[in-house]
Amino acid sequence: MPSLESWIKHGEELRRPLIANTKLGDSEKVVIVGGGLSGLCCAYRIAQKRPDISVVIHERANRLGGVINTWQEGEWICDLAVNATRPHPAFWRLINDLGLSEKFNSSRPQAKSRWVLLDGKSHKLSWRTLFKIGPLKLRKALKKSRAGGQSVDQVIPHKAIADALCLGIVNETSDNVDADFLLPSLTKFGDNPPIKRAKLSKLINASYPIFTPKRGSIASIEGGMQCLVDALVAKLSNLENVDIRLEQEVQSAQSVALEYDIGAESVIWAAPGVQENYTASTLSIFAIGYLDKQVQDVKVGYGTLIPDSNLPISGILHESDLHHSKRCPEGHRLFRLMVPHNRWDKDEQKVLDVAEKLLAKDPVLFVKIGERKIPRYLPGYMANLKQLSSDFSHAGWAISGVSITHVVDEAERFAELF
Ligand SMILES: Cc1cc2nc3c(=O)[nH]c(=O)nc-3n(C[C@H](O)[C@H](O)[C@H](O)COP(=O)(O)OP(=O)(O)OC[C@H]3O[C@@H](n4cnc5c(N)ncnc54)[C@H](O)[C@@H]3O)c2cc1C
Repeated sequence: MPSLESWIKHGEELRRPLIANTKLGDSEKVVIVGGGLSGLCCAYRIAQKRPDISVVIHERANRLGGVINTWQEGEWICDLAVNATRPHPAFWRLINDLGLSEKFNSSRPQAKSRWVLLDGKSHKLSWRTLFKIGPLKLRKALKKSRAGGQSVDQVIPHKAIADALCLGIVNETSDNVDADFLLPSLTKFGDNPPIKRAKLSKLINASYPIFTPKRGSIASIEGGMQCLVDALVAKLSNLENVDIRLEQEVQSAQSVALEYDIGAESVIWAAPGVQENYTASTLSIFAIGYLDKQVQDVKVGYGTLIPDSNLPISGILHESDLHHSKRCPEGHRLFRLMVPHNRWDKDEQKVLDVAEKLLAKDPVLFVKIGERKIPRYLPGYMANLKQLSSDFSHAGWAISGVSITHVVDEAERFAELF
């Protein structure tokens, strides 16, 4: 059972299993497969703690950062994947250790509102949303979910709201998402904290470096998430015990172990796709910009989720409303559109038509900035994780948690094994 100290350090992340080989901590050389945020953080935390161990990162692409990348055109700045973080002390610790505190800020409080488009009408998400779901129905469903292995729509018995929640995080409808994976605190998956939640929250809040985030707030980095990757890479380049190899695709944990004459237990696989039955969904990301006056009727906020699969856009994020730092030229606003490929025929005009209906006509900027794949976590996913081979260790968003707070905290948990 994890100690109270561990709960204060990692919080609800402790509900998510760490898929580590028990002998990993005895390694003299560690090979990490994948140079996304997970691989970079695992390398940083292990190499920093144990300068006597050599750490090698193998990345198949010619750049580091994985899905994280920030698109920029003049003063327009838009992240392709994650754009901000939810509160978690591990993320604050990373920012502090990388010397990024000055560039790290809470999102703007006036951009808190989130909406969901239901039957063509915009519905603001709040405690009142509970009444749309039905508090008694929800309570009953939550109780049932403790048995494990259920889908999110079984736990949140309002399909459109459950879909909106899932689309906003994993680009999937709620019947296809494991509730233990997405909402482990609600389904009570894994270990429970040794003290009451409110008391634990107080202790966690006191442990944040830089600043204690307000409840429900998020935080982001000036210049976008690529700055986090750049700072990590700069730190790693200064560590003598770290070697980064680009354009080095690894076939298997066993093959890379053989190459370095180590056991498979010294390999951390921090890349999606190694598990049997791995699948992912694909989405395109568009940036769309306006003059302030064109979108004066669009309320300032976080964004709108769109569960209606007849529309190609599943989410509109108000990038320039949200971040403390500038994301567009003065007198303009920037929005990011999420376009899942299972709802879209690849005709960009259709995306523009719908965006113009939902936001405003004649944007001054409309550009597809990239495509991304998001792993699928089907119902029963967490229950099956325990059966995953641990000849080697598994890290990253394709294993036991989708968010960057998970990935960053998990790296600290790996380093604790050394
Ligand atoms: C559109 C989108 C929006 C998101 N929004 C949020 C958000 O708002 N909040 C949040 O917390 N998170 C969000 N995320 C998730 C977040 O971006 C991820 O949790 C995180 O970036 C995952 O990092 P990773 O290193 O685990 O994986 P990846 O970034 O996928 O990195 C894996 C790396 O492994 C490499 N690789 C793969 N196979 C091999 C191989 N065989 N050999 C060598 N290298 C290999 C890849 O090239 C890649 O560089 C979002 C993601 C996307 C796509």
